[in-house]
Formats: sequence, C-alpha cells, structure tokens
Amino acid sequence: MKEKIIEVTIEREHIQRTSRRIRAVEVWCERCQQTVMMLRPDEASSLSGLSVRSLCRAVEASELHFTETTDGLLFICLNSLIQISS
Ligand SMILES: [Zn+2]
Repeated sequence: MKEKIIEVTIEREHIQRTSRRIRAVEVWCERCQQTVMMLRPDEASSLSGLSVRSLCRAVEASELHFTETTDGLLFICLNSLIQISS
C-alpha cells in the first residue's frame, strides 16, 4: 500500500468546515466497489472529531467501511467516514 498526503474538507451542516491534510492509502473498498482513500484510525479520529473508540464501534456496527492489513492494521474508508461525520 502506498501512502499519500491528501487534503479533505468535511462540512457539517454548512457551519463548521474542517480542512485537514491527512495521510491516507489508496485501496479497494468492497462496500463502495471502488478504489477509495482509507485512513488509519488516529487520522480518521482527528479528521472526524470522533474518538477512536467510537470509530471502532462504527466499524463493528458496519457503519464504517474498513479494511485490515495482513499485519492487523485497520484502515477506514474515507467515503463512509464523511457520510457518518456530516
Ligand atoms: Zn467504502
């Protein structure tokens, strides 16, 4: 997996606008059926303002799309993160 720096803007009810540079990897998401940007939980947490715990719960509840690397690292699909954050 190749890591990239991307800029993401999340708009919450047109009031709060968060623009952040984050590290992400480009991987296939089974649920989106396309190649998406995926983030590590700590990056996803600082971007969305949700705690890593909440993110893990959302992953378990299938609200967030994710992938796991062979060495057990969790990556969260940016598309699904934006959906639950906005
Ligand atoms: Zn996805």
